[in-house]
Amino acid sequence: MASGSTKIPDDFNIYYLLKGALPLDTSGEPMDRARGETKSPYQGLTGLRNLGNTCYMNAVIQCLCSVAPLVEYFLSGKYTTSLDKDNGEIATAFAYLMNDMWLGDFDCVSPEVFRLVIGERYPAFIKKTQQDAQEFLIYVLNELHEALKKASKRRSQGTSSSTWETRGSVSESSIITRLFEGHLSYDTICLECQTTTYKTEIFTVLSLPIPYESECSLEECLECFFQQDMLTWNNQVNCSCCGIKTDAAVKASVAKAPKIVIFHLKRFDCQGNYKKKLTTDIYYPLINLDLSPYIYPLFRKNPKYSLFAVVNHFGDLDSGHYTAFCKHTITQNWYNFDDAQISEIPESSVQTPAAYLLFYSSQTFSVPVKSQNG
Ligand SMILES: [Zn+2]
Repeated sequence: MASGSTKIPDDFNIYYLLKGALPLDTSGEPMDRARGETKSPYQGLTGLRNLGNTCYMNAVIQCLCSVAPLVEYFLSGKYTTSLDKDNGEIATAFAYLMNDMWLGDFDCVSPEVFRLVIGERYPAFIKKTQQDAQEFLIYVLNELHEALKKASKRRSQGTSSSTWETRGSVSESSIITRLFEGHLSYDTICLECQTTTYKTEIFTVLSLPIPYESECSLEECLECFFQQDMLTWNNQVNCSCCGIKTDAAVKASVAKAPKIVIFHLKRFDCQGNYKKKLTTDIYYPLINLDLSPYIYPLFRKNPKYSLFAVVNHFGDLDSGHYTAFCKHTITQNWYNFDDAQISEIPESSVQTPAAYLLFYSSQTFSVPVKSQNG
């Protein structure tokens, strides 16, 4: 296959895959587009084919596709300047997918190439079995960060969380950290000598406990997450002042609030052999979510957040189905994305007991623009 029209080197498997799946004609446009499926009425309203239990993937991709600044970064071609050429397959496939979903040429596209490249790294995602949407989201964000990171001058902020274990102590920034990264501060006070120690942890997704069985509010989940915990018995901490293990109290606060905050509602309760899905009806605000009670007073800059996307999970633990609700940047209407099917829904339908991942933004998105020459 001729590669003259592309800037893509031939020695990457992914590019063979991309070319195989979307053969490029002389203008550099994939020829597939000429096959004439119905044109979607709006950019960014494109369904995703189900490739066999890939609804978890489709729902997450739709939510990421509604993060306008992320989409713009890929549509504008800005990502190519930061791309790690030796580790760029997943980010490149993601960029192609965002382009296809935002061109508005099709009602529906296939995420097959993206799934294949991510499956090379994480074989679980190539199996035709249901996976956890939250785990998939974290893998995707982590891979995009790894492919697009640049060493940053800002000071490293203490220890990293399990999500970012591979990052080490050097502070690195990427489109992912700029949009999604927040910092938690854990203040631990020794109950013997009252000495307080501080530890910072990075997060991109906050996993919130669900404190009630039948119904509760998102704020109650947040209060539960940020409440003070006692560290006793096996959980005692080594106090450097006392020189021994002592009882302590620990409290988390947000030291840096991300522009986009993603909440994972811990509906899947697994303790040993005991597994259960919590179907609690959780009330979450569509606008004006106030995070200021949980943010260090010094750092309260944009504490009001608006909901713009939701991943829903229906059914039980091992089977079940994922869909997404996303607010469209152009029309400002909400849509239900159920694999290939898209339907407009009223704002009043966005609140359901199926909500599993909630995406909030502190800023209003502008419509992503595709570069003129790309
Ligand atoms: Zn002490």
